[in-house]
Order: sequence, then structure tokens, then C-alpha cells
Amino acid sequence: MTALTELTLTAMRAGLAAREFSARELTTAHLEAAEAARALNAFITLTPDHALAAAEAADAALARGAAGPLAGIPIGHKDLFATAGIRTTAASRMLADFVPTYESTVTARLLAAGAVPIGKLNLDEFAMGSSNESSAFGPVVSPWRAGNCDEALVPGGSSGGSAAAVAARLVAAATGTDTGGSIRQPAAFCGVVGIKPTYGRCSRFGIVAFASSLDQAGVLARTVADAAVVLEAMAGFDPRDSTSLPEPVPPWSARLSADLTGRRVGIPVEYRADGMDEAVERLWAEGARWLQDAGAQVVDVSLPHTAQALPAYYVIAPAEASSNLARYDGVRYGLRVVPEGGGLMEMYEATRAAGFGPEVRRRILIGTYVLSAGYYDAYYAKAQRVRTLIARDFAEAFRVCDLLLAPTAPTGAFPLGAKSADPIAMYLNDVFTVPASLAGLPAISVPAGLDARGLPLGLQLIGRPLDEQGVLDAALAIETRAGFCASPARWWGDDSGPS
Ligand code: GLN
Repeated sequence: MTALTELTLTAMRAGLAAREFSARELTTAHLEAAEAARALNAFITLTPDHALAAAEAADAALARGAAGPLAGIPIGHKDLFATAGIRTTAASRMLADFVPTYESTVTARLLAAGAVPIGKLNLDEFAMGSSNESSAFGPVVSPWRAGNCDEALVPGGSSGGSAAAVAARLVAAATGTDTGGSIRQPAAFCGVVGIKPTYGRCSRFGIVAFASSLDQAGVLARTVADAAVVLEAMAGFDPRDSTSLPEPVPPWSARLSADLTGRRVGIPVEYRADGMDEAVERLWAEGARWLQDAGAQVVDVSLPHTAQALPAYYVIAPAEASSNLARYDGVRYGLRVVPEGGGLMEMYEATRAAGFGPEVRRRILIGTYVLSAGYYDAYYAKAQRVRTLIARDFAEAFRVCDLLLAPTAPTGAFPLGAKSADPIAMYLNDVFTVPASLAGLPAISVPAGLDARGLPLGLQLIGRPLDEQGVLDAALAIETRAGFCASPARWWGDDSGPS
């Protein structure tokens, strides 16, 4: 029999239903894999006790014939989702010992669906980053390596632990959050599927806030079908999030179809940017042919304000972050540092200086600056106007097409440390993912090929608001044709790895 960790989520469901193995066996196999993969640093906290209890409950439910859609499926959560009784760090020293008394809506729904939570996954501190190097718990190392070279690569970010854990077969699927690309870009770097639904589809209740008008939960999984099943279980209206959409969740997984007859797919011409890897460009053209082969018509479209998306994002996201992160003051949450003889101000200063890492501090400073009197109109208000224009560009494009096809990132994964000294180079990673975030649109990254170094590349599909079905269907059409079956050669967990 194939190792249990090699099965897709869909195959695990079938195997559990047919009693080929138990949820307990499946869980134990994944806990062992996660233990043996410490070198990847994908988990901040492993939760074997919670996992085994959930597995027992799943086995009992399966035996009664009352199992939820994810009964017995081992999953991981980005450590940005509050989990009752399990520490939730946001990969920050500020929350290193924070144990919430409440559960996020998304993780609560997945628990209710029977999923087995293996642990909390590493990320960039407060989800700020594109490489998972800003975590206070150390970087995640990608399970992938280029050719025969054993140089450590980044998994992408900020959901780097989620992408690495799925790619390394430590979990069947993982939650992530995407503010400007944090699900899609790490999915692309690690050769897995990553979907960010329409803003408001998933509740933000209990997710540590970064930039509230952009933050959206989603899924990283091995296949499009697997991602659809998990997204279905976690999405839906929640009265505890005022931006949650009062829309029913369609049966995306049951309706999945790779037949794109009658669909029009737009190629945004402005995305042909400098600095794009040649292999990415070739794959993009190939992706257009695959979609044609699936019955779609492919047309060029224009998104004229594309070049302004990244600068607007890097004003709006830090502005909202500076406001959201004001709550970490040593009084109500997490870390408190009180200097000898210090008063309230000294406590604020010492707590925030000790609690936040350099990237988070940079964002707070930028955000405070662009919101300050005298600069608000020049930066923040202007960025908001640009955001409106970007949303309008998409609305115009969707008059002539149903979906957009673009690369997920301009290149494949880069070595650890390669961009950490240059924030602009790091931010440029997000050039293709940020526009859909600013417009609140559903978007997916699907693994579609390898670059010259043998590292995964993703293609991105962006849809109309609420058209998750459209992006899933087109991603399935690409997945079927790309035949991407590469997986990272295992170097961790034995003596040969440098770790
Ligand atoms: N890389 C982007 C940033 O650093 C996106 C982060 C995210 O989506 N959470 O802001």
C-alpha cells in the first residue's frame, strides 16, 4: 500500500470510508512525518494530543455513519488562527505565550467537519513577508532543492509553513491567509495548490489582523479537488465578522468541471513585466494553450493601473497594520516588558521594542507616516483612489472575459537570505498577486511546471467576485493538462541532510 502520507485528501476520504485504514492510523503517520521533519521548521507547535483525540472522535463518527466531510483528515493551521487552549503566536515574540480562550470561525468549522489538527504552522511575523524569513521562530526551509544543490531555499510567504507542510506530506491540507499573495505565492514556490476566495467568503473572526480590508483565509492543498473540499468546509457567513458575505456556499467540489466550453479567459498584457523568468513566460503561454484545449477562448485584456498596484498596496497594508498592531501595548495582550522604575510610556516602548521584529517595525513606521496629518492625503488617500481604479480595471476586463490567467510570481523560489536585506526586491515578489487582493477577487495558484533549476512554478487564475467555481474549474483544466506530479526529494529526517 502507498504510504498513508502520500495519499491526496480525496484518496484519504475514500480510504477512510472504505475502512482501509483508520483516522488514528492516518493521524499517527502524519504526526510521525511531522516529527521527522523538524529540519524544515514548518511547525511552531505540534498538537499530538488534540490530533489523537480528534482522530478517535472521527473513527467513532465514521463507525456510526455520521462522519463530517473532513472526518479523520490531518490538517495544519497557519499560526495566525486563534485556537482555543493552543498557543497562537503569529510568529511574533509579542504573542509567543498567548493562549486564546476562543477559536477562530474557520478553525471551528474545520473541527466541526471532523478535521484532525496536527499543529500550528510557521509564517512570517504577523503575516508580513514573502519568504517566511521574518518569523521570530526562525525561517521555514523549503522541502524543495534545486537540482543536486543542497542550498536552502525559501518556501515563500507568508504562509510558508503551510505550503512546506503540504508539499512535504506532513498534512493533507493547511489553512493560510492571503493579504497580498500569502497563500498563492508560497503555493507556487512549493508546488501545491493555493486558493484565496473572494474577500468576505471566509470569516476573519479569530484571525490575528494584519490589514483588515485585505486579509482573507484560504487553503493550501495538493490538488484542486482537495482544495475545493476544504474551502467548502471553512467558508460561509459569520455574524461575528461585519465584512463577512451573507452568501450561501455553493457545492464547489461536486460541481468541479474541467470543461471550459463557452468561457473566455483574458491575458492581462500589463503583467508582461520586466524581471520575469523566461520559464515563467513560457509556462504562461502554455497555460493559455491548455485552457484553449479545455474549450476556452483566450483574449488579450488590459489592466492599465497594474503598475500602481504594488505601491498602493505597500501604503494601504502598512497603514492598516499600524492601526491593528496598536493593540499590542503590554496591557491587554501578550508580552509585557516593564523597565525598572518605568511608567506607562516606558512600558509601551519597552514592550513594543522587544516584541516586534524589524519587518513589523518597518510596516508600523511606514503606516504611521502615511496616516499622519499632512501626509494622509498625499499617500493614504491617494493609494485608496488607486485601489478604486484597480478594482475598476478588473470590472472592465470582466466585461470581455470570465477569468484572467497570469503567473503567480515572477520567478521560482530563491535561496534563504537572498532578498532579506532588500525590502523592495522582496516586495516585488507580490507584483502579480497584490492586484486581485486590492480588488477582493477570488484567485488560485496551481502548480504547472518547473523552472530551469527544477523548482516548481505556479499559474494564477483570477475570477469575478464570488466566482470561486470559475477559478477552480480553470485550475482543474490546467492541473489535468500540466500533469504536474513532481514532489520534493526527501532530504530531511535522515542523516544525509544538513538541516
Ligand atoms: N508579501 C505580502 C506582504 O508582505 C503579502 C503578505 C500576505 O499576504 N499576508 O505584505
